[in-house]
Amino acid sequence: SMNRNLQDVAGKVNVSFEFFPPKTEQMENTLWQSIERLAPLAPSFVSVTYGANSGERDRTHDIIKSIKQRTGLIAAPHLTCVDASRAELERIAKDYWDNGIRHIVALRGDLPPGNKEKPALYAADLVEILRSVADFDISVAAYPEVHPESPNAQFDLLNLKRKVDAGASRAITQFFFEPEKYLRYRDRCAAIGIDVEIVPGILPVTNFQQLTKFATMTNVAIPGWMNKAYEGLEQDATTRNLVAANIAMEMVKVLSREGVNHFHFYTLNRCELSYAICHLLGVRPQSAIA
Ligand code: FAD
Repeated sequence: SMNRNLQDVAGKVNVSFEFFPPKTEQMENTLWQSIERLAPLAPSFVSVTYGANSGERDRTHDIIKSIKQRTGLIAAPHLTCVDASRAELERIAKDYWDNGIRHIVALRGDLPPGNKEKPALYAADLVEILRSVADFDISVAAYPEVHPESPNAQFDLLNLKRKVDAGASRAITQFFFEPEKYLRYRDRCAAIGIDVEIVPGILPVTNFQQLTKFATMTNVAIPGWMNKAYEGLEQDATTRNLVAANIAMEMVKVLSREGVNHFHFYTLNRCELSYAICHLLGVRPQSAIA
């Protein structure tokens, strides 16, 4: 029935949280408050992005180290290959392994603006390089609505298969707002023999204006009803948050009923919405359960 608790439908749910390196002291405080709030939910891992071409890989690594020390969680750095040579990537991988890092989110990264050359390395190559160094747990990116550079959907799907065949153990999707897009993509993955988890990336949208700019670049469709939902809320952050929570909750409900039992949250370093959605999914602080 519609009234059944979501956790009864979903069974055991795994979650993971994504953060980005903060740029100011205030943002850093927000990040740590968020990590402390979300850590008791015992995520299967947390990850920290690395902006390709930013040269700030050390900051990603520093946050990963601190998360490990302060929470004991499995912390996975994102690593891109568009801005490094094979030899550099091997050295970075070895360094990560020697520092106890066992999980890496392996990405190509975006090409620098204006770049027309074919990159030397794609994410599938990075997965192969990482595996040649050590037995990492590797997550890769997947695009239910097709990566913008891909000539067609089938090519992109085969690219995910190459990444999995090279040794990736899970795919995390680009965010999306129409569950059917994800579900159809998951079916297509299964149909061509991709046998790893396709973890939906959930973005609770608190800043709709920013999203509309970003979504065009990423080839993610924003349904008309979303425009309507955020209309007139440009100056009203409180209501935007409530709307964002509602939309994301509706989506995880649909996905739960379709058997999804791992959700990856693009937290944008905020905890409130991810925490509330987890609560609804039956993911509770471990200390409260014990
Ligand atoms: P790939 O899998 O290599 O694919 C890139 C494109 O090239 C696709 O269109 C693919 O079809 C095509 N392709 C693959 N192989 C070939 C080939 N041999 N010849 C021709 N075309 C090919 N970016 C960051 O900079 N930092 C991050 O921390 C970060 N985190 C992310 C996390 C997630 C979960 C996701 C979904 C994306 C993230 N990104 C990040 C963005 C990502 O780097 C970009 O989307 C990038 O453009 C593609 O990366 P990829 O790993 O999917 O690349």
